[in-house]
Amino acid sequence: MTNIAFIGLGNMGGPMAKNLAQAGHTVYVSDLSKDAVDRAVEAGCVATSSIGEAVSKGDVVVSMLPNGAIVKSVYLGDGGVLENAAKGAVLIDCSTIDVASAKEVIGKSQEAGFAMVDAPVSGGTAAADAGTLTFMVGGEKDAFESAKPYLDIMGKNIFHAGKAGNGQVAKIANNMLLGISMIATSEAFNLAERNGLDAQTFFDISSTASGQCWSMTSYCPAPGPVETAPSNREYQPGFAAAMMLKDLRLAQEVAQQSKTATPLGAQAEALYALMEAKGKDGLDFSGIFKMIRGEI
Ligand code: NAD
Repeated sequence: MTNIAFIGLGNMGGPMAKNLAQAGHTVYVSDLSKDAVDRAVEAGCVATSSIGEAVSKGDVVVSMLPNGAIVKSVYLGDGGVLENAAKGAVLIDCSTIDVASAKEVIGKSQEAGFAMVDAPVSGGTAAADAGTLTFMVGGEKDAFESAKPYLDIMGKNIFHAGKAGNGQVAKIANNMLLGISMIATSEAFNLAERNGLDAQTFFDISSTASGQCWSMTSYCPAPGPVETAPSNREYQPGFAAAMMLKDLRLAQEVAQQSKTATPLGAQAEALYALMEAKGKDGLDFSGIFKMIRGEI
């Protein structure tokens, strides 16, 4: 069994750390929030007094943090991971962050002699709890192989996406597609309904025709056709519009840096930013349907 340091015990990191502990590993945890640490200890993890202490005890370091600036300070800052990690430790950052920060932190970790991967996840808190996340992993093959046994505990599908930063690229490109397809699905259902076609009839036709997509068949933004969709529970998330907006902003950042035209991605970002401006970004991202209809 392995000693693991886990930093960032929020909605996602908390249950991920729990699964590593339940698999029999010793998980040394660190978070700015004492409540988050207390919950992890109840779930079988071991509290520490600092990132440095947690990391110095781990042969593996896992982090699940809000953004690139925080990941950089946790890894590269004073008292951080690189300063304190044990020789030969494998570093796994599961946060969703900008590609440039991911590459910078992995590059500096390698210079300091550590194997590191970016391993952002798809799947929300339910998948984190059940250990069924999808991991998209960027980094050297050896680093991927070293990280995989631990990712296998926290997830169901583990993909090696190629070089450092490619995990973030895969995650961001996928979620840009998801945001665009949700808006397109919302427009189509609204157009159908406003012209006399009820949501169920349009769903029956389009879900077996060429308009079929995940946003329609799993997360249908119009209430009714998909029983488990957030649209049938007043758009409670699910996957909040605020989180979709974060990923769409990351997509625009990398598009600009790589001089890539993403006109629909830019439009999707603008529409979700409008939802944020209306104070409705706590709704599920399929709640954009209500905005398209002029209801919010
Ligand atoms: P969260 O805000 O619930 O958790 C973040 C945790 O990090 C908090 O407990 C916070 O106290 C801690 N933290 C912040 N700065 C710290 C620091 N300097 N040192 C130690 N701890 C620190 O966020 P979350 O929902 O768990 O998301 C984490 C990451 O996972 C994000 O990058 C997010 O984009 C990604 N993600 C989230 C979901 C989801 O459904 N929630 C799904 C896929 C990916």
